[in-house]
Amino acid sequence: MSVRVRFAPSPTGALHIGGVRTALYNYLFAKKNKGTFILRIEDTDQTRFVVGAEEYIEQSLKWAGITPDEGVSNGGNYGPYRQSERKDIYKKYAQQLLDEGRAYYAFDTPEELGAMRDRLKEARVANPQYNAVTRMQMSNSLTLSAEETQAKIDAGEPYVIRIKLPRNEDIRFKDIVRGWVVVNTATLDDKILMKSDGMPTYHMANIVDDHLMEITHVIRGEEWLPSAPLHIYLYESFGWKAPEFAHLPLLLKPDGNGKLSKRAADQLGFPIFPLNWTDPVSGELSVGFKEAGYLPDAFINFLALLGWNPGGEKELFSIDDLIDAFSLDKINKAGAKFDIEKAKWFNQQYLKFMSDEEITDQFMALIDADIDRAKAKAIALSLKERVTFIQEMPEAGKFYFEAPSEYDEKVARKKWNEEASAKLLEFATELKEKSSYNKDSVKELLTEVLERDEMPIGRVMPALRLALTGQAGGPDLMEIVEILGADETFERIKKASEVLN
Ligand code: GLU
Repeated sequence: MSVRVRFAPSPTGALHIGGVRTALYNYLFAKKNKGTFILRIEDTDQTRFVVGAEEYIEQSLKWAGITPDEGVSNGGNYGPYRQSERKDIYKKYAQQLLDEGRAYYAFDTPEELGAMRDRLKEARVANPQYNAVTRMQMSNSLTLSAEETQAKIDAGEPYVIRIKLPRNEDIRFKDIVRGWVVVNTATLDDKILMKSDGMPTYHMANIVDDHLMEITHVIRGEEWLPSAPLHIYLYESFGWKAPEFAHLPLLLKPDGNGKLSKRAADQLGFPIFPLNWTDPVSGELSVGFKEAGYLPDAFINFLALLGWNPGGEKELFSIDDLIDAFSLDKINKAGAKFDIEKAKWFNQQYLKFMSDEEITDQFMALIDADIDRAKAKAIALSLKERVTFIQEMPEAGKFYFEAPSEYDEKVARKKWNEEASAKLLEFATELKEKSSYNKDSVKELLTEVLERDEMPIGRVMPALRLALTGQAGGPDLMEIVEILGADETFERIKKASEVLN
């Protein structure tokens, strides 16, 4: 049987980075096994529906390169892929459970449910539930006659459909990540399968769809582990084979203290959403990884290693390497600490891998100066190993476009001297006479000029850098001279001499 997996987000807001990781692991697992990756939108909870969230999910996956094989936008043979368009399917399956006595109608009003909970609390029941014990005191098709039940339905009384769990039975399954999980039904309650608005709950829709879409492996966040026993029971109730389960470890705050939340990310000043997201209610803008300057490949590499450990020292994995190395048994049980410095490190590495032409394109899009491509390319390449994000390049290379208006005071005090400046002017004057030069011949000329007076190169280098950039550090100095050109180099040395001598 070929592998079929799904990412099944609910469009209740922006997609959290943990959701992207879930999607990624599903995707990697599908590709590794030559299977199918499905995007299903679980939008049956109308009270939590957020406008724009579905589009946001799709755009985020697209940016990250996690492309579904089947789903809301690209279709497939198992659609529709949006649960709100599958209402009739769930009704049919709920009816099947009712007919077989595995589910029942419940008519209890919110007041009646509240009264039951109060009664149980008074009797010191720690965890009041609607279950095998309590359901026999409630208003449902187990306590009412068939005629009474039908009369209520015909009269249009609101009702829900609940699963009928056995009183005391172990449910067991083997999770790929967590091993054997055993839960007794006495600790569960008769969860609602169909709500009074005729919509299925998450549990019902999820199981029916995973079955009908022939999902072989459910790979999802650990927060769904408590629901898994009920899901297993539902598969049994329908007489269906359950898929395999792999519950992924939580993403933790950098200090390992609790779940990584938007609040924690905001406080620590890093993104938590893949793309910019404007909260439709508060209007608050959250900057995404994309807009913060992360390259999608770096983001994916970083994310893949948050909770999955292929073993060995290797850290840089292209998407193909990830697919090749991926397996569910290397997913960690323990939560994964989120480390934004590591994310930045990955970005820097991927910036280095970027082709010269690509980095030139991106750099040119960021600057509004009117310069030719060859010069832009030279500037971009001189800067690429000196920044973490492409967006930092215009600022880091500002001196290429403007002569410095200020000079680093400390360097000026320690390294600037008239002798050096005179020597530098001599060098620049001679450079101006050359018809062509590159960083190597610039270096040769400077060495030659200095040798005449037996002046060590270390005496003039900091001064030259100061004159050209105003700063103490930066790209290769000979490269800067080559890019600025002889005339500009001369002018800047002259100006610095006037200001600093
Ligand atoms: N709709 C659920 C969510 O929002 C899906 C959980 C699952 O994968 O079963 O995460």
